[in-house]
Amino acid sequence: MCASTRRSFLKEVGAGITAFSLGTDGLQATTMPGRPPQGPATSEQRKPASVMAIAAHPGDAFFAMGAPVALATHAGAKSCFLSLSLGERGSPTIPPAQYGAMQREAAQKAAGMLGASAEFLTYPDGEIPIEDEAKFAVCDFIRQYKPQVVVTHWKGSWHKDHRACYEIVQDAIFYAALPAIKRKLPAHAAGQLFFDDNWEDAEGFVPDSYLDTTPVFDKWRSACAVFPMWRGENGFRYDDYYANLATLRGCVSNFSKAVALMSSQDQRVRHLRTL
Ligand SMILES: [Zn+2]
Repeated sequence: MCASTRRSFLKEVGAGITAFSLGTDGLQATTMPGRPPQGPATSEQRKPASVMAIAAHPGDAFFAMGAPVALATHAGAKSCFLSLSLGERGSPTIPPAQYGAMQREAAQKAAGMLGASAEFLTYPDGEIPIEDEAKFAVCDFIRQYKPQVVVTHWKGSWHKDHRACYEIVQDAIFYAALPAIKRKLPAHAAGQLFFDDNWEDAEGFVPDSYLDTTPVFDKWRSACAVFPMWRGENGFRYDDYYANLATLRGCVSNFSKAVALMSSQDQRVRHLRTL
């Protein structure tokens, strides 16, 4: 997607936010094809924004993106997890077919605990293709769930599936918003795009938003614990890392627990009439 087509993902982002929200008035929808509605979200009357977490693997979706989804559902917004792969090759001891089924089951259970939906595409773990077929598949889920906020991987990752997910989501958002692209469901423009704070995607990750996840921290952690890998069976201590990361991010944002997010470049641009 070229820069000009992404230029409309413009929302002013505060340094610390307590919930994703969408202004209900003062929002002037544009009619530019392929562009989401934009305008100042200045209303005092805000409603919680629905969130869609789109990850390469279920673990990423829940461990690194799960708390923002949990916060959204906690506030009453319909939200969803979408995994592009089951992460079936992630276990050093369990065969992929068996482990993939375990991952799917864990994701469905964890999503239920958080009041969200779990969706899957079953591209081979390690081989998620950066192709239009995948982009349109994600586009269809965006049109189905109509999220106001999308959270996905940052591109600065050593993991090729994570980089692929980043690329796929950029274009899927674009395709989903274009009315002229005819699919089974009508176009939907996701208003905001954030990148998650993932231990594998740290290169160039510079957070600009801190989301207060204190109200859902315990629930989110319990949901993550459904996954066998959460306790470190696969070689990385996810529980220690992400639970303590929430505390660390909370320290610097003056919340008890927080998740750090990075806005897409275009979203950081502010349109001002005065300083
Ligand atoms: Zn992953």
